[in-house]
Amino acid sequence: MYESLQLQLKNLPESGWQWRGEVPQALLENGELGEIAPLEHLAGAADWQVTIARHDELFLLRGRWHVAARRECRRCTRSFVETMVGECERTFRLTPAESDEDEAELLPLPGHLDLLDVLREDFWVNWQGGALCRPDCKGLCAKCGTDLNEGSCSCNRQEGDNPFAKLLQLKFEDK
Ligand SMILES: [Zn+2]
Ligand SMILES: [Zn+2]
Repeated sequence: MYESLQLQLKNLPESGWQWRGEVPQALLENGELGEIAPLEHLAGAADWQVTIARHDELFLLRGRWHVAARRECRRCTRSFVETMVGECERTFRLTPAESDEDEAELLPLPGHLDLLDVLREDFWVNWQGGALCRPDCKGLCAKCGTDLNEGSCSCNRQEGDNPFAKLLQLKFEDK
């Protein structure tokens, strides 16, 4: 499977190339493959649709993916599965550009491209810390720890008299 995600752009047909399929979780999480940091806490394979078009010297890659990941809510600490989606667009060239304004990424001949890394990189670019199990999650009581989504407690949580009120409003990054 990993081999099928290795392309030599030089050998790509003029008509371009496309692929749609599942990239297994085990591959995405395998730290021994590729150069981009492996993904973590996935809940399944990634579904990926990718096309590469050739325009003379340039190779335009467009990809669209979705994958389920296990997250922890930053307010109530509950675990949940979130479907993450992303789209990427990248341009490559195999020989150095003649103009400084050319922003294509240079992949020296024969233009080796690791699509596993392309997908991982795009995942991390789209990664957002501070997940919420639902937009209106009420979180935990700062005094007694009761999950306020499931019931109320008898603590007095008037704003202002809780020294942790400010802390609770901070947004924590997951990583
Ligand atoms: Zn929550
Ligand atoms: Zn309480």
